[in-house]
Amino acid sequence: MSENEMVTRFAQACARDVEPVAMNPCPWCGGEVGPIVEEGATFRWRRVTGCCANGPEVRHDTLADDQAAAEVESRAAAIAAWNERPVEVTLRAQLEAAEAEAEQQREWADRFKHMVITCGVAATHPDPNLTLTGAYKEKWNSQQADSVRALRARAEAAEAEAVNLRAGNIAYSQQVNELIGRAGKAEADAKEKFQQYVDANEARIDLERLIVPGLRVYKGDHVVQIDAGKVGLFTERYSGDEDLPRAMSVLQNRAIDAARTKEAAP
Ligand SMILES: [Zn+2]
Repeated sequence: MSENEMVTRFAQACARDVEPVAMNPCPWCGGEVGPIVEEGATFRWRRVTGCCANGPEVRHDTLADDQAAAEVESRAAAIAAWNERPVEVTLRAQLEAAEAEAEQQREWADRFKHMVITCGVAATHPDPNLTLTGAYKEKWNSQQADSVRALRARAEAAEAEAVNLRAGNIAYSQQVNELIGRAGKAEADAKEKFQQYVDANEARIDLERLIVPGLRVYKGDHVVQIDAGKVGLFTERYSGDEDLPRAMSVLQNRAIDAARTKEAAP
């Protein structure tokens, strides 16, 4: 038996004698590694034998008086060196940090997604306050949703006001149209009455005879006097149509025009 084989057997015997040691798996393939500690480059070194790679070599005290105790100590040191992997520890810590960050991002994404849903409900659902109840109220309601609800309330109030204004405008334009119609009818009535008066009286009043100043002309129930170019009407004897004064004003102007035309003639 070589010295190397002897050490190996001794180490295996030690391994059987102690409590099972927790061993990290192979860093390359992830395979399980038994607590096999062997001589390293020389008999002064010990190391864990792995499947794809061996563990770091640790110094073994070849001059110790109690070689069995020294072997146990070296074996524990070799296993500790195998388990202790600074790069792996660092990578694992980085991985954990990355996973934590990813989880945080997932939580934010979930939260934002539900906040968007909340805002959408506040903006378009028949009941804008639906998300003020239930799980959304507890977890996902947000300042943005409040803003959306406030904005919606303002928009709806503005729409209602616009409808009212439009209804008011329609009523107002109907009133205006009615007044215009009545005014048009009144004007047409007045014109018709005046025309009736002219038609009824033109035959009785000969305008050509009214242009002599101071002349009084009696026509039926009316007394018409021409004085200094004016045509006067003695209304105390008038008992006719209400529109007579107005008609007389027109007749007066026609008489004055006729008088001026005669004066201008040679
Ligand atoms: Zn391996």
